Amino acid sequence: MVPVLWTSPEGCTGCAACRQICPQQAIALKPDKSGFLLAHIDPEKCVECGLCAKICPMKSRRPAEAPEPMAFAMKHRSQDIRKQSASGGAFTAILEAFAPDAVFGAAYCEDFQVRHICAVTPEEIARLRGSKYVQSDVGDTYKQAKELLQAGKRVLFTGTPCQIAGLNAYLRKSHPNLLTCDLICEGVQSQAFFDRYRQHMEEKYGKLSSVSFREKEKNGWERSDFQMRFENGKKYTRTCHTKDSAYMNSMLFQGGNRDSCYACPFAAVPRQGDFTIGDLWGWREMVPEWNDNIGISLVVCNTEKAAQYLPRLKELAEMKEVTVEQAAKHNPNLLRPTPQPPTRGSYLADVERMPFAELEKKWLKPRSLLRKTASKLLFRLKK
Ligand SMILES: Cc1cc2nc3c(=O)[nH]c(=O)nc-3n(C[C@H](O)[C@H](O)[C@H](O)COP(=O)(O)OP(=O)(O)OC[C@H]3O[C@@H](n4cnc5c(N)ncnc54)[C@H](O)[C@@H]3O)c2cc1C
Repeated sequence: MVPVLWTSPEGCTGCAACRQICPQQAIALKPDKSGFLLAHIDPEKCVECGLCAKICPMKSRRPAEAPEPMAFAMKHRSQDIRKQSASGGAFTAILEAFAPDAVFGAAYCEDFQVRHICAVTPEEIARLRGSKYVQSDVGDTYKQAKELLQAGKRVLFTGTPCQIAGLNAYLRKSHPNLLTCDLICEGVQSQAFFDRYRQHMEEKYGKLSSVSFREKEKNGWERSDFQMRFENGKKYTRTCHTKDSAYMNSMLFQGGNRDSCYACPFAAVPRQGDFTIGDLWGWREMVPEWNDNIGISLVVCNTEKAAQYLPRLKELAEMKEVTVEQAAKHNPNLLRPTPQPPTRGSYLADVERMPFAELEKKWLKPRSLLRKTASKLLFRLKK
């Protein structure tokens, strides 16, 4: 019998472990109506070996072998690195501490398609910095990582928890030369949705030349900006954490996430990666003295392998131990997935049938001047 990989879309994260392991190349990842890639088996090519279903991380979870995690507030000692990074530069500190031959992570490729790449040079590594709030396509990177490990190379693999679960499932055994790092993840939107937004913006402003979901230049880290730059020199900048740009608004609303994200089994402790990284929201309670607004990371050390790098990390970055409970209070996705908003069904129906401008007007409208001013005042008061 041809294996059953999923019976409803929430059973597939699109991690692509099954496609990469299939000896018959019988599995393809095809977009659903929201543009999320789902695994499909070609019954003509399938020889019913069952390997895909056996390794699928949604079907057979990796046993929890991790010790008690240790959580830290972290800021890289280089201000430049922190400015280039989404939070406090934890990714770069881990990379420098481990000193791998190759690092895998998400980068913008042609036409702003977000894909996992194998980075070796400083220029390639720089492309991994910055959060891209779009589901990254892992392509054949698990296979590439395995080949490098078998050749004795040191590999750092970074990604969302489901991508690290996919890599672990694909490799099926631990490798001493592999270090993994998952992100705290609130859920992902599809590349197809971002492409629609990009097209909508390009119609208004011209051809896009760069995008930053966490631009720190003007407002720093805590109220970072969403910024698009266009080839004609125009610039579109809106604060991320308020509801000023349609794309960030869709993220904050959380209705357009992948089906599997709402029941994500990997948004939990024990985590999937050796390290877990995120933003240290709630820093005022944990490290109030770190108030330069350049960026603070939360780093969770999940395994003994990761713990070996703590002494070196403490040289590269300032670190202060916090508790997982303190961190999770302000960052719930460390422990659980994002719940589905009750209006998701009608939102998705509108996403499918409406042109973007109409969708924006109905669901993703920027806030009124009054609400913006109130929010700014509240922020100043809090500070
Ligand atoms: C979709 C998504 C949701 C997130 N949700 C939360 C959250 O709810 N709470 C929270 O605290 N943090 C969240 N983060 C993580 C946060 O935005 C930072 O990525 C993290 O704090 C690392 O920061 P850094 O300073 O080490 O940065 P950087 O150097 O900027 O780190 C970049 C790292 O992020 C990886 N990355 C970037 N985009 C993607 C992507 N699309 N898919 C896979 N990997 C990617 C890169 O490969 C690289 O390893 C999320 C990130 C993503 C991509």
